[in-house]
Amino acid sequence: MKAVQHFRTITKHKILVMKECFRVGLYRQGLLHDMSKYGWTEFRVGCKYYQGTRSPNNAERETLGYSSAWLHHKGRNKHHYEYWIDYGLDGKKALIGMKMPKNYVVEMVLDRIAASKVYKGDAYKDSDPLEYFTHGGTDGYVMHEDTKALLEKLLRMLADKGEAETFEYIKKVVLKDKNFSY
Ligand SMILES: [Zn+2]
Repeated sequence: MKAVQHFRTITKHKILVMKECFRVGLYRQGLLHDMSKYGWTEFRVGCKYYQGTRSPNNAERETLGYSSAWLHHKGRNKHHYEYWIDYGLDGKKALIGMKMPKNYVVEMVLDRIAASKVYKGDAYKDSDPLEYFTHGGTDGYVMHEDTKALLEKLLRMLADKGEAETFEYIKKVVLKDKNFSY
């Protein structure tokens, strides 16, 4: 059991996301981000399958054929697009991505930035989150087209213009401007 290591890993990530959320004015989401990772269902899997270099969910998935921690996590955390997968209204039985509220799209962007930073360490570049998202194409994501477009737009802005300008745009335009719709 690697409880201490796992606790450190998830807390390091959580603090990074919290700081980013505070920069754009998302205080509540900054405090509550990924809280379910500290509950027993997810925490015990993190300790049992602790890897150090990759998500314990991948190791659990390889062992069981599915990751109970991830299924629990994505069902409770609205910043994951997988939370928003539901049946469409067209009567076909397919599951599709619903349009995410913009404050959760922003939290998803910040989550990806924090994850890239922890993963890359000193080698982190502003283009890494975009590279991770677009690597191998974006057709496979079960995500609403508009949500995907906003996510990509913000990650591209980060890659091209950097954090200061992108965070300012998120705070002032995406979240605050009444006329902003996506
Ligand atoms: Zn999460």
